[in-house]
Amino acid sequence: MNIKNWRVEFFRHDLGEPELESVRRVLATRVLTSGEFVEEFEHRFASSIGAKNVIGLSSCTAALHLSLLALSIGPGDEVITTPLTFVATAGAILQAGATPVFVDVEPETGNIDASAVQAAITSKTRAIIPVHLYGQMCDMRALRRVADSSGLALIEDSAHCIEGSRDNVRPGQLGDTACFSFYATKNITSGEGGAVATNDPKLAERLRLLRLHGMDRTASDQMKEGFRPWDVIAAGWKYNMSNIQAALLLPQLDRIEINLEKRQRLARCYTSLLDNPSIELLKTLDSVTHARHLFTILVDERQRDRLLVEMQARGIEATVNYMPVHLLSLFRERFGYTEGNFPTAELIGRRTISLPFYPRMPISHAEAVASAITECLG
Ligand SMILES: *Cc1c(COP(=O)(O)O)cnc(C)c1O
Repeated sequence: MNIKNWRVEFFRHDLGEPELESVRRVLATRVLTSGEFVEEFEHRFASSIGAKNVIGLSSCTAALHLSLLALSIGPGDEVITTPLTFVATAGAILQAGATPVFVDVEPETGNIDASAVQAAITSKTRAIIPVHLYGQMCDMRALRRVADSSGLALIEDSAHCIEGSRDNVRPGQLGDTACFSFYATKNITSGEGGAVATNDPKLAERLRLLRLHGMDRTASDQMKEGFRPWDVIAAGWKYNMSNIQAALLLPQLDRIEINLEKRQRLARCYTSLLDNPSIELLKTLDSVTHARHLFTILVDERQRDRLLVEMQARGIEATVNYMPVHLLSLFRERFGYTEGNFPTAELIGRRTISLPFYPRMPISHAEAVASAITECLG
């Protein structure tokens, strides 16, 4: 396979010896599917984020989908979310058979606007899915109030925010569930993987059942205890995390804080290098610990595409997070969304560039990125 040889890479994982050692340990056992490594990961991840229950899954998309199913949200129901996200957020709503209803975002943070959520609630609304964009948490206290006042569920898309907090609230504390991603470029990764956290024991039990065919006993139960008849008591999915994925993730839990500090340092470095009247940054609020998943800048919308081309011509890998979801063909065609529906999300979508950003990225690469940008912007 040919991957372009970038001078400055957008992302590189930091998996190495500890992960190899951990995978060797799992390969020495008989259980390659869900088993003790997954259980250990669930416990350690739960204590790392301060949640009561964590259920390991195959992806964050699965976590979002299962959250909706476990909360009995489906056909005929509306779910309010942000258009400034990866398509998976809205895709999971479609998978559940429900209707995504987008609302606009705050200009300062790019996060879903709680007052716009309030205004979009109808008699069909059943849930809100906020996304903690780039790692900065949404106003969960405000969203919880809005949800409670109309009896709605609150499902956090926390794919960008394992480490973050806001007003001393962490992901999973005010949401009914919080959904995490361990996709290839996320803050911890098993290539593919995800998890759902919840403080509600009944919901946790339901999520566990639905993640594996709705079976009341699993293959690893059988390996431990021998064959006993099992039953299927709900229509479940095949969304379990494997021991191999958990083995890859476990050693990374030890580096979560160190890697966050490295990304914070890199973000400060970019911020001072990019101090230029033609470049704006989204605001990091005072009460927030930013999980720093992505580092994005905002430039003049007339310069953005040219800047992307020129950066790439200089060997710098950069991207756009996100083209607003409501403007993707499927959502335009199925729901009639069009330009102008959500002006703030659209403006950020036209102005944003995501810069190379990962814990071990050399400072010299950040300097190369910054000088390329300043040069191109003139
Ligand atoms: C990556 C991502 C997802 C999907 O995660 P998967 O684990 O790939 O399913 C969902 N939402 C957001 C905001 C993401 O960035």
